[in-house]
Amino acid sequence: MSPASRRSAGLPLAAAPSRTRPGFPVRLAGLGAPAPAVQAASLPAGPLAAALPGSRSLVPMPSGLGLDSSAVRQAMVARLAAQGLSEPAALQALAAVERHRFVDSALVNQAYEDTSLPIGLGQTISKPSVVARMLELLLQGRSRPLGRVLEIGTGCGYQSALLARLAREVYSLERLRALHEQARDKLRPWRLHNVHLILGDGMLGYPKGAPYDAIISAAGGESVPQAWLDQLALGGRLVAPVALVPGRQTLVVIDRTEQGCVQTVLEAVHFVPLKSGLA
Ligand code: SAH
Repeated sequence: MSPASRRSAGLPLAAAPSRTRPGFPVRLAGLGAPAPAVQAASLPAGPLAAALPGSRSLVPMPSGLGLDSSAVRQAMVARLAAQGLSEPAALQALAAVERHRFVDSALVNQAYEDTSLPIGLGQTISKPSVVARMLELLLQGRSRPLGRVLEIGTGCGYQSALLARLAREVYSLERLRALHEQARDKLRPWRLHNVHLILGDGMLGYPKGAPYDAIISAAGGESVPQAWLDQLALGGRLVAPVALVPGRQTLVVIDRTEQGCVQTVLEAVHFVPLKSGLA
């Protein structure tokens, strides 16, 4: 990381988060009680595993991508690596998850280009290099795998599917019912028992799953909601777009340390706005 600025954020610290696991399974809107947690490494083979040797995709490939979308993904990952993205686990996840299944059929041919694409209701799926960058930031320097992760902005569910491979439990909040339902339908065939999709206002976080090792937002406001800081575990990291200067979003990393929250401001980004309430 080459921070443009790094300083103690002086952010108000909440009471030290409890390390105690909340009762599981928790009740989650839309999905009912989740199935018991499984390690990302032992996820059942399915379409997500289609890129892995010896695995088969049970879902037919969409037309326009050819028979081997895994090769197209490998090429995308090679381009990301050439751009300097180097976190192996993040790149492996990007190589495995079939992005074309999360976009509109008319856009399938652009699914592996480094571009954001519309997913309906004025929202977009982030471009792969930005997704890779944020996942890299979450994973960087960790001595242990990610435990519980909070994702703000499920959108089409693509990043949730990536996180499923990188974290023990993923809690993903979406405020737009239609997108929440669409993501639930898209993810259903994968049977990702460690992904919990929740219809809710992400600005409030999701206390039931807290504390989180990582919080990642795909929507940006003018500041980081206090609830996110409160729900970040000690040693945890938050990555989000924030418009610290009105109209100019930058990627912000906040590490929660024994000494308080440390904020690092990184490069300029363009994400959809973080909005409150459900719609
Ligand atoms: N990672 C997503 C990106 C979706 S775009 C993907 O892979 O598709 C960001 C999403 O954040 C949008 O769907 C938007 O509706 C959602 N969003 C914005 N504000 C939110 C809030 N307060 N709570 C939950 N979701 C929010």
